[in-house]
Amino acid sequence: MAELSVKLLEHTPEPERTIATAARICYAPVDADELFRTLSDEEVEKLVNLIIKSGHLSAVEHAVFTFAVDGISRACSHQLVRHRMASFNQQSQRYVKYSHGLGFITPPAIDGNSSAKDKFDKLNNMALRIYRELLEEGIKAEDARYVLPNSTETKLVVTMNARELLHFFSLRCCNRAQWEIKNLALAMLEEAKKVAPLLFKEAGPSCNRGPCPEGKFSCGKPWKKIR
Ligand SMILES: Cc1cc2nc3c(=O)[nH]c(=O)nc-3n(C[C@H](O)[C@H](O)[C@H](O)COP(=O)(O)OP(=O)(O)OC[C@H]3O[C@@H](n4cnc5c(N)ncnc54)[C@H](O)[C@@H]3O)c2cc1C
Repeated sequence: MAELSVKLLEHTPEPERTIATAARICYAPVDADELFRTLSDEEVEKLVNLIIKSGHLSAVEHAVFTFAVDGISRACSHQLVRHRMASFNQQSQRYVKYSHGLGFITPPAIDGNSSAKDKFDKLNNMALRIYRELLEEGIKAEDARYVLPNSTETKLVVTMNARELLHFFSLRCCNRAQWEIKNLALAMLEEAKKVAPLLFKEAGPSCNRGPCPEGKFSCGKPWKKIR
């Protein structure tokens, strides 16, 4: 079974200093280059906290993060690409023939039920076998792939600026999100926090920052200030 893997490939070198500089330039009589070099760490912290708290998030757009994501299903990648402020490149099922095998993602609910797992594996194996038979009959991979299920593993690179990441974490780290994209979002948040701990301190579901906005769909988790 394919396993989720999330790596932060690249990011704005000093994301929090960059954001603080962008925010401070609005009110500073000096140029941004000088601000970037001279702002103290305390000033950076204060500015980043202020921006996050006030919700004036345009400055946050100047920090960008690129992730390598492996081991998610096509069902999950379809949910991910709905986030329009992100940039994506995904392994193509038109140009890549799965000649070295193909992974499938098994939902935990199916994995924990032997009868369901048996049916699930049967269907995946049959789809893979027919996919290969179609290729052997000269059908192009772009057409043969129509028999592959939503569970088919995929790989992609996704880039988001920090504003979009905060929004994405708010929706997809929430208990309302499906388990797979939630696991993905939590793994991305963990990576992002390593390089921008101030920026992502309270990132995650909305209930990290205030009462749940989900109304009757709320999971019921009470809001507790996290620090
Ligand atoms: C729990 C859950 C259940 C869902 N269920 C369904 C479902 O049943 N069916 C379904 O189709 N989708 C579903 N979705 C997907 C959802 O509708 C959104 O497409 C997805 O979450 C992307 O969110 P977004 O549009 O806020 O953000 P993004 O696309 O990431 O955009 C970020 C923000 O930019 C702004 N923005 C982006 N594009 C525009 C625009 N064209 N005009 C104005 N402002 C814009 C908005 O403020 C937006 O919030 C679900 C999502 C979640 C989290």
